[in-house]
Amino acid sequence: MKILLANPRGFCAGVNMAIDCLERSLDLFGAPIYVYHEIVHNKAVVDRFRGLGVVFVEGIDEVPEGFPLLYSAHGVSPFVRDQARARSLKAIDATCPLVTKVHLEAVKYASEGYKIVLIGHEGHDEVIGTMGEAPDRIVLVESAEDVEALDFPTDTKLAYLTQTTLSVDDANVIIDALRRKFPMIANPPKDDICYATQNRQEAVRELAPRADLVLVLGSQNSSNSKRLAEIAEQLGKPSHLIDGVREIDRAWFDGVETVLITAGASAPEDVVSECVEYLKRVFDAELSEEFVREENVHFPPPKSLRDLLPILN
Ligand code: SF4
Repeated sequence: MKILLANPRGFCAGVNMAIDCLERSLDLFGAPIYVYHEIVHNKAVVDRFRGLGVVFVEGIDEVPEGFPLLYSAHGVSPFVRDQARARSLKAIDATCPLVTKVHLEAVKYASEGYKIVLIGHEGHDEVIGTMGEAPDRIVLVESAEDVEALDFPTDTKLAYLTQTTLSVDDANVIIDALRRKFPMIANPPKDDICYATQNRQEAVRELAPRADLVLVLGSQNSSNSKRLAEIAEQLGKPSHLIDGVREIDRAWFDGVETVLITAGASAPEDVVSECVEYLKRVFDAELSEEFVREENVHFPPPKSLRDLLPILN
């Protein structure tokens, strides 16, 4: 058996920054540290931090007054920030700057009188945060059918934004439908689907045709990981989205000569390595690193944390 190992895969700059932020916060304040929602959508990462005394909360009222609170990489709405302020929490903002960019676009369009069509997945933490920037000016669409159901008057100033972790191809179908129905719709100068999402999808699109099976390391609630598995399926390749080696079923590999392994932007490298080692051990598989695109993106810690760091020295 041959293993094609996709590059780029795994942690993106936003996830690295958010995890670094949480590690430094633990050093700075000690446990317990509170995080609003999962710091990133990955079970292995969340379980590790739970073991270190991190408490993931779904509501601000779960955090004792005055305690530090991290906002996850997916961002939060202004309402959540206000609630945290009212509780005198020490907020540390680990929102990915590329998510913040979408928030700022929403604020800008709303202030200029636009109605905003947000392309995204209902209930996703990022979508909830972005919609909270201008709740009465943003409508969510998840499909071209949703676009058909929009009934804005023809003179409405319209703009669209997207969630950062969508399938590029699926988003383009929806954007085409929007442009057909609302030819004057405005769009942000630069793509909202982030570089990491695009690069990981590009690697799967390029490499999957050479494989019989695709394994995507990532959690079921990770949007960008799910999209990678879907893209493989759309290319006619069976795929499995798994958190780690323990979920592998040997029967998947019957008749498989080449397996492509990739990982979503929130999946740590050790879960990838464990799968590679398993396939080497059980199937005597040979490893081939496949490079589709270089990545050199790095985000510094947020100002809200940098301002606190001198306390450590
Ligand atoms: S997937 Fe993209 S938007 Fe999400 S944290 Fe990573 S770089 Fe930021």
